[in-house]
Amino acid sequence: MTEDPHSPQPAQSVLRRLPAVHQVLDAPRVKRAEREEHLPRWALRQAARDVLDRQREEILRGERREPDPIEKTQGEILQRARNLRLGSLRPVVNATGVLLHTNLGRAPLAKEALHAIEEVARGYSNLEFNLETGKRGLRYEHVEGLLCSLTGAESALVVNNNAAAVYLALRVLAKGKEVVVSRGELIEIGGSFRIPDILAETGAALVEVGTTNRTHLRDYEKAIGSSTGLLLKVHPSNYRVIGFHKEVSTGELVALGRRYGLPVMEDLGSGCLVQAGPPSLAREPRVTDVVRSGVDLVTFSGDKLLGGPQAGILAGRSEVLERLQRHPLNRVMRIDKLTLAALEMTLLLYRDPQTARARIPTLAMLSTSVPALRRRAQRLARRLRERLPPSFEVSVRAVTGRTGGGSMPMDPVPGVGVLLRSTQFPAQEILFRFRMATPPVIARIEQDDVILDVRTLQAGQDGLIVEAAQIFSTC
Ligand SMILES: *Cc1c(COP(=O)(O)O)cnc(C)c1O
Repeated sequence: MTEDPHSPQPAQSVLRRLPAVHQVLDAPRVKRAEREEHLPRWALRQAARDVLDRQREEILRGERREPDPIEKTQGEILQRARNLRLGSLRPVVNATGVLLHTNLGRAPLAKEALHAIEEVARGYSNLEFNLETGKRGLRYEHVEGLLCSLTGAESALVVNNNAAAVYLALRVLAKGKEVVVSRGELIEIGGSFRIPDILAETGAALVEVGTTNRTHLRDYEKAIGSSTGLLLKVHPSNYRVIGFHKEVSTGELVALGRRYGLPVMEDLGSGCLVQAGPPSLAREPRVTDVVRSGVDLVTFSGDKLLGGPQAGILAGRSEVLERLQRHPLNRVMRIDKLTLAALEMTLLLYRDPQTARARIPTLAMLSTSVPALRRRAQRLARRLRERLPPSFEVSVRAVTGRTGGGSMPMDPVPGVGVLLRSTQFPAQEILFRFRMATPPVIARIEQDDVILDVRTLQAGQDGLIVEAAQIFSTC
């Protein structure tokens, strides 16, 4: 639909027929929504301007010969105004089946953690104030004791995220020295976190040992020299080498480090504190096991398998943690009080593993049985069949979910999905319309079918999906 440059109807005359913003705001349906939904003027004006600007550009590019009549655009303008009022960062319904979806904010928090955030945020707190002595306290102390008793470590520290934790550790322990890492562990996590790049930034020199699929203890030993500062093990959390494969265990590396008087650190990525979910997921190393193997330092995320807020947790020997705590970079990466409140409450739930599995959403979702998921999917499918136009076919089938967020990459999480296909809407269009709902519903496509995976739905969200399905009937 590109415009012929010699067309008798130049863009200018088409542009003149575009309605003005005030005409859109005076349209009856817009007026009614403004009154009934209390939609603010600024949001309606901005939404109208956005939609008209888009049409103006299409006309200028020759992609449009007629402006849309107001009656045709007012639905979209109202939807945009509603979304503008809600702000940019909004809750969405995660129907992807990926539990720790980094793009969707990773771990949802437990009710107890949410409550703690609200209480601490509302007023003042003893963030850095020791109530017994009446003197200044340390913010980390609110979680250090808990982290030590849950992991078995002597000492612990918390920063903004695990990438920061790894950076801080390498900077303090290995700047100007050599760090020995297996070639099979030189990973990229995504979001441009790459072990070799982080090492280079910290001023440590990377010494790669072994091969991609096999690294032996003797490879590490041969690499040790007078400039070696650290032996580093990285949990390859988003891929796995299968087949002819050999890696050196943390315990073996610790024994080697002891012999040469070198510290050993492990970047664990996902911080698994208790076993949860299907038995096939049991392979994920637990923090307690890594600490027990004798490493000087282990780092992991607060918002992966741990199921808490975004944070980077460092646990290990006191001498090492003291050095990290004193370093000025620690202040730069300081965790804020809201995160700390949520983290402490999440860790408190771990004092009883049974409670953790029931109350922490990530663990609870992982632990839901397939029959329970199937019952939920069948109920949702029934409601969707009633709501969707006849062009839709709705069925239920077994699907494979993932933990995501760089944890347990190869271990599928068996799940159940509601499958949608329509003779009227292509799968991409269905996905798009669900994204435009309030709240947006995020699904995935598998072989041209739209899948709504019920494992990652929170309580009460089935109703939101059914409501969102309304958009297939109204426009
Ligand atoms: C996820 C991950 C990181 C980064 O952690 P963030 O909390 O996302 O900053 C670092 N190392 C490993 C092995 C990881 O899996």
